[in-house]
Amino acid sequence: MRSEPFDVTDPALETVRPGQPTPGSVARHGPGADEGLADPTGSGRRQRHELWMRRALEVAVTGPAAEAEDVASSAGGDAFAEPGPDGDVPVGAVLYGPDGRELAIGRNERELTGDPTAHAEVLALRRAAQQLGRWRLDGCTLVVTLEPCTMCAGALVLARVSTVVFGAWEPKTGAAGSLWDVLRDRRLNHRPEVYGGVLETENAAVLRAFFR
Ligand SMILES: [Zn+2]
Repeated sequence: MRSEPFDVTDPALETVRPGQPTPGSVARHGPGADEGLADPTGSGRRQRHELWMRRALEVAVTGPAAEAEDVASSAGGDAFAEPGPDGDVPVGAVLYGPDGRELAIGRNERELTGDPTAHAEVLALRRAAQQLGRWRLDGCTLVVTLEPCTMCAGALVLARVSTVVFGAWEPKTGAAGSLWDVLRDRRLNHRPEVYGGVLETENAAVLRAFFR
């Protein structure tokens, strides 16, 4: 049982819920990789998050081949209407290093691989860790088109990812503010910065098109 009093002024307790402005639109302080930049309004950060989210969307709609050269051709205007390959729900994730370099991508491959843990976030984390040769991903930012589930939120905490940016809210399974808030649970020793609802309309449209 937690004995400390509930402190509503603690920024770590800030929760983002559907319908509320994203934290990126208000001033907040935290351990995020980009907090050191002189950007008091956060507009530069928001622009960067949106840019990164477009890349994640590209990964979501083009699949594992997004690393290949067909990215440019398949990321056109009608890409949103395309169903995901292999019947997998089109969720894309990109892991960025502290310097903003793209380290790894992941796309939901549960159907493709028959692996219940093959979510976009987990695959991106694994590939980035492999590339860096370590499990600690501090300073890194994970960008994903859909609010992470409990498994992925747990994996993001374990990997010590500094910032999580996600697109559409997932009221049925979301663990970043919707159903749970694993990423900012004060009982855990690591809490990433969280920015939800980035390009929410576009992200939700991709999922709606898939389930139609
Ligand atoms: Zn997941």
